[in-house]
Amino acid sequence: MSLITAPQDTAVWVNTSRCKACDICVSMCPAGVLAMVAAPSSVLGSMIEVVAPEACIGCKDCELHCPDFAIYVADRKEFKFSKITSEAKERAQAVKDNKFRKISA
Ligand code: SF4
Ligand code: SF4
Repeated sequence: MSLITAPQDTAVWVNTSRCKACDICVSMCPAGVLAMVAAPSSVLGSMIEVVAPEACIGCKDCELHCPDFAIYVADRKEFKFSKITSEAKERAQAVKDNKFRKISA
């Protein structure tokens, strides 16, 4: 098994070959960083997307709850994360209300 290399200056990233589009990470994210998008070529028809990387607070709830080790969060020592904002909380709620699907901007 090959380990995915941390991309530089990136808060959160996904190994899409492992993701089974279960929505768990989206449901856990307090900042609306993640959402599911249509992906006709994937088996399940959808795929996780990092839609608002600048809003990531580095809580690691996504990484800790992913059953497939498909999502990764930068190390606090190497990346300066955002603080949670009311806008981020509202986006997170809107994504949840939209059945974990990406909302239009
Ligand atoms: S929790 Fe993991 S497997 Fe599920 S959608 Fe998120 S990245 Fe994909
Ligand atoms: S680390 Fe926290 S804020 Fe960042 S994407 Fe994961 S759950 Fe969301």
